[in-house]
Amino acid sequence: MIPVNNNDDTICAMATAPGGAIAIIRVSGADAVRLCTPLWTGLNGTSIDKQPPRYMALGVFRSNDGTIDPSCIAVRMAAPHSYTGEDVVEFHCHGGAVCARAVLRAILSTGARMAEPGEFSKRAFLNGRMDLTQAEAVSDMISAGSDAALKLAGRQLQGAIGRKIAELEDSLNALRAEIESRLDFPEEDLDWRPTDEMCGKLKEIAKELDRLAATRDAGELMRGGASLVIAGPPNVGKSSLLNRMLGRDRAIVSDIPGTTRDTVEASVQINGIPFHLIDTAGIRSDNGDSIELAGMERSREAAAIADLVLWVTDASKPTTGQEWPKWEIHGKLLRVANKADLMEGAARQDSALLVSAKDGSGLHELYNAMEQAVLNGHRETDDIAVSARHADLLSQAADAVKEAIPLCENETWELCAVPLGQAIFALGQISGKTAMPDVLDDIFSKFCIGK
Ligand code: GDP
Repeated sequence: MIPVNNNDDTICAMATAPGGAIAIIRVSGADAVRLCTPLWTGLNGTSIDKQPPRYMALGVFRSNDGTIDPSCIAVRMAAPHSYTGEDVVEFHCHGGAVCARAVLRAILSTGARMAEPGEFSKRAFLNGRMDLTQAEAVSDMISAGSDAALKLAGRQLQGAIGRKIAELEDSLNALRAEIESRLDFPEEDLDWRPTDEMCGKLKEIAKELDRLAATRDAGELMRGGASLVIAGPPNVGKSSLLNRMLGRDRAIVSDIPGTTRDTVEASVQINGIPFHLIDTAGIRSDNGDSIELAGMERSREAAAIADLVLWVTDASKPTTGQEWPKWEIHGKLLRVANKADLMEGAARQDSALLVSAKDGSGLHELYNAMEQAVLNGHRETDDIAVSARHADLLSQAADAVKEAIPLCENETWELCAVPLGQAIFALGQISGKTAMPDVLDDIFSKFCIGK
């Protein structure tokens, strides 16, 4: 049987990655101060329990076997003013795996236990230091792979989603309370809202829930990125454009290790959004003006699953023979006419974006168009872009509210209260108010140890 860990235990873990210059070891729980006190003495002779809270002091860390680190900083944070809401002690010792591990072992030998992944954050949530959306944002901050993902996580950590959910919960609770009072005191002429006003309010809430759920695409995009295919006839400058994108000063190029999709060759941030470039190299012309069939097929397949397809043509050549082949695509299509530098004055007739991979002209507009296309009208500056977990629950809540609307119109109050309760329950799973232990375990187990 898997032992169930107790939330009253004092837990400890390394909060920094091994091998750095400094290692931070974090201890949290009711006994944190008592257990750590014998291990550390300040250079001025004070012990941890006598130190003022949140005061960093240099001292000596020693175990029964002798001194481990002669210059180790200790800081005590008294409950509830700590990350977890419990008493917390942190040791900032010399980095490198050996010293930090010896410090951790010494703390474990006092009776503290090793923290599970995400356990500090789970305690912060359980102690009311943050709601579940904020705790999830902590994990998102750490795993953010782009500027957009980081900003999104930051806004969520500041409570942007939590506040919105709380507002909706309050509105639904107020409506439910009113319905229940109609049921409890049917004969009394209390100051109830007119039925059509209540129905109007429910419609408004359902619309807002749907709107929020629809921000999922933007959320997934900012967190996970968009797949991009650059396709077009040969020699129009697809590779040059790709190199331009990868070589851009603001772009961050990274290999994607361990990817199972071997067609993805690189990631690049464009306007803060990660784009995963799907390699369609290998499209070759067999006679100079027709595109080789196998290459076309490969391109078509890649385009079919991409979030965005750039169809690149040569602006200095006639458009005939360079038309989009009308493949079935899942994502959006942007037409790009490259080699603008070779054009003399005359503007193109079609709607393609004019760029030059050679001199960089038009790229700014292209990047903005790419951002617009994948964000689907949802501006990156908007406060909220929900995760898949939130979106599912928001949709459940929206469905329940929609179910309540006709029941409200018919004034069948006892029936109307039921779906409203379901909607409130679904929203509570987002904020964490009604989240089941297994849901919490699932969320926090994805965190790293020490967070
Ligand atoms: P691809 O076959 O579509 O990948 O095309 P390449 O990127 O290999 O480019 C084909 C040729 O066009 C090369 O000689 C490039 O130097 C040239 N080229 C690409 N982009 C531009 C551009 O914007 N302006 C000009 N003048 N030449 C370009």
